[in-house]
Amino acid sequence: MHYDWENLTGSVYRSRLSFCDVTIGLVCGRAGALLVDTGTTLIEAAAIEADVREIAGSSVTHVVLTHKHFDHVLGSGQFRVAQIFCAPEVLEYLSSGSSDLRDDALSFGADASEVDRAIAALQPPRRGIRDAAVDLGGRRVTIAYLGRGHTTADLVVVAPAPDGEAGPVVVFTGDLVEESGDPCIDADSDLPAWPATLDRLLEAGGPDAVYVPGHGSVVDAEFIRRQREWLRERVDRETR
Ligand SMILES: [Zn+2]
Repeated sequence: MHYDWENLTGSVYRSRLSFCDVTIGLVCGRAGALLVDTGTTLIEAAAIEADVREIAGSSVTHVVLTHKHFDHVLGSGQFRVAQIFCAPEVLEYLSSGSSDLRDDALSFGADASEVDRAIAALQPPRRGIRDAAVDLGGRRVTIAYLGRGHTTADLVVVAPAPDGEAGPVVVFTGDLVEESGDPCIDADSDLPAWPATLDRLLEAGGPDAVYVPGHGSVVDAEFIRRQREWLRERVDRETR
């Protein structure tokens, strides 16, 4: 195994990659394995792919890119046979924004030749989505756009327990939630819209879900409510 994988519940896992401490998620069913985000380089992505084959007994069949940022999308070219889901805005960015992606990755210390290789391998899907349901074989996963926040086009992945089984819902939040630092607010963000998006996230997962941030430790609904209040205070301060 190349990475440490945390078993969240049943056949749902996540791993924190050392570069950028970005989380990647894995939901396994009888007929497939869905990966949430892909890391920054093809080296990372190849290691993820090998680990998934060991954990799931199959290759990655579906990939969800939660949002456009390099540490979530640049490994995606490794998964050539998987069906890739991303928002239309992310598709547009992957198709046309390679110099921004490159600059952003290099500013965080990524290796230039690895980034160039990852950009050359990008294979965005033919069309973007807002919402989708994926049947992994006895396990249904939904992908949803809940509103603007960290970026204008963040997707979340909601993975309830397998059909007929009890167990907590796991929600992969992308960078709509961060635990290891304050939420990252930048030029891509919509700060005023973000708190209401977290309300919809809490509705989608429910009070007992396991919430998996894009960066940091797994959190609960109470943490998300606190982050929503922190964002609300930021909005108040900035609009005063
Ligand atoms: Zn991000």
